Amino acid sequence: MLKQLVVIFSVLTILPLSLSAEVSKKGPPLAAEYQADKITDAVYVIHGPVADPGVENQGFMNNPAFVLTDAGVVVIDAGSSVQTGEMVIEKIRALTDQPVVATFSSHIHGDHWLGNQAIREAWPDAKLYAHPNLISGVEAGEGEAWIDVMLRLTEGAIRGTTVVAADIPINDGDSISIGGKTFAIHHTARAHTTSDIMVHVVEEDVLFLGDNAMNARLGRIDGGSFKGLKAALTKAIEINSKHYVPGHGHTGGKEVAENFLLLVSTIFEVVKKEYENDLTDYEIKPIVVKQLDQWKDWQGFDHGIGKFVSLAYIEVEEDAF
Ligand SMILES: [Zn+2]
Repeated sequence: MLKQLVVIFSVLTILPLSLSAEVSKKGPPLAAEYQADKITDAVYVIHGPVADPGVENQGFMNNPAFVLTDAGVVVIDAGSSVQTGEMVIEKIRALTDQPVVATFSSHIHGDHWLGNQAIREAWPDAKLYAHPNLISGVEAGEGEAWIDVMLRLTEGAIRGTTVVAADIPINDGDSISIGGKTFAIHHTARAHTTSDIMVHVVEEDVLFLGDNAMNARLGRIDGGSFKGLKAALTKAIEINSKHYVPGHGHTGGKEVAENFLLLVSTIFEVVKKEYENDLTDYEIKPIVVKQLDQWKDWQGFDHGIGKFVSLAYIEVEEDAF
C-alpha cells in the first residue's frame, strides 16, 4: 500500500498539471504504422489488424476505406475511435487536398464508425449516412455502450472518443452520386445486424460488404441471423462486383463473399441436421467444428464458434415451430 502511494505521489509530482489533464482527456495517436492499400485508381482500404480490440492495437481492427471523387473524398467506415479516424485522415491527406464530403457507416457496431468524430471535427459539413436502424440504435444509447466496451478492452486508449453517428438515413435501393461516383446501397433485412448496408461503388466496381462477410476473422454474430446472412451474401454475389471488401480481413474477389456464405451455410446445415437427430447445441458444437477445417485458423474461431452454433440452433428451433 505504502509503495503504491509513493508511486502515485511521484507520478503526480513529476507530471506538470496541464500535461496530466491532457493525458486524461485524450488517448495517444495510433502507434503502429498502417498503409492505405490501393484497390483501384480511386478506392483505398486501410486493412486493420484482425485481432480483437485491445491494448496492442489501441482498438483499431476494422477496414476503413475511402473513395476519391471529383467533389471530394467519401469515407466508408471511419474506424473504431477518434484516434483511428485521425489516422484515416492522415492517409487521405497524403493523397489529396480535397475535403471529406461524406461517410457511410456499414452497421451499428462502433468499431466501424466511432472514427466519424474525427471526420466531423475536420469537416463539419461532411454528410454522415447510415441505415435508419443504426441511427435509432445510437439514439437509444448503443454508441455510448460501444465506447464503454472499447475503453475497457483498450484500457483507456480510445479516451476522448465521443458519439458522432450518422444522421442521414439511407436504405436498400438508394443510389447517391458524389463527384462522378455512384454509391449504390443494398440492405437485405437482419443479417450481421439489423442495420447493415453494403455499398457498391459502381464505376470502380468495388463492393463493401460490412461485417456481412469477414475474412480470416470470426467476429460477433449476436443479434444477427443465418438466413439473413445467406440472403445478404447471395445478393452480394449476384452484384458480381470485381472487388469485395469485407468488414475485417483481406480484400479480394467474389470468393470473399462465397467463402463466408459457405461457412454460415455449413454451420446452419449441420446444426439443422443434428437438431433433427435430437442433439443439444452443446453436443452439436464439436460435430460442427469437425466440418470447418478450412476456417479453424481464423482469428477468434475457438472463442467465437460456440455463439455461431447457439444462434443457428435458435433459428433452426424457431423454424421447427
Ligand atoms: Zn460488426
